Amino acid sequence: MTERYARSAPVAVQETVGESQTEAAGESLGRSLRAGSVVLLYGDLGAGKTAFVRGMARGVGADADEVSSPTFTLIQEYAGRGCILHHVDLYRLEPAEIDDLGLDDLIAARGVVAIEWAERWNGRPTDAVEVWLEHLGEDRRRITTILPTIQQLPVT
Ligand code: ADP
Ligand code: MG
Repeated sequence: MTERYARSAPVAVQETVGESQTEAAGESLGRSLRAGSVVLLYGDLGAGKTAFVRGMARGVGADADEVSSPTFTLIQEYAGRGCILHHVDLYRLEPAEIDDLGLDDLIAARGVVAIEWAERWNGRPTDAVEVWLEHLGEDRRRITTILPTIQQLPVT
């Protein structure tokens, strides 16, 4: 039997002014996440990736005050409603160190995983949420969110 799949990728683009608006965008995404969701964050230093994850933490029902850059702890965990949000920053890690983090295991264990500098993980999943943050000058940022959905088409 032949199965056919189509990937469609709904894209949302929004502009924020100030950190709190970026947090609000993250909170909105966080509310929609399910166990096993992976969020890959892309953007330069200071683009607002950590601010976005702070909002995500609020959205999954965790304490947003705990959220800071996990650059030195590798992975931070925040307990949400019925899920744990794992927050990873790959900025300073070498590819071999990234492989040793066990990110696949966290995902397989149905955690919610948010990854800053996701482009550094060659083995990152392709069916993840992607969030791109760009500087637009001063306190303005553009946030592009790509939500992959995999639809099974009728067999022909
Ligand atoms: P990253 O994790 O991408 O390096 P952070 O979230 O740690 O970035 O820092 C973003 C910085 O930019 C903070 O100092 C924040 O106050 C500031 N900022 C200004 N405007 C915005 C905005 N619209 N969205 C997010 N952060 C903003
Ligand atoms: Mg950061």
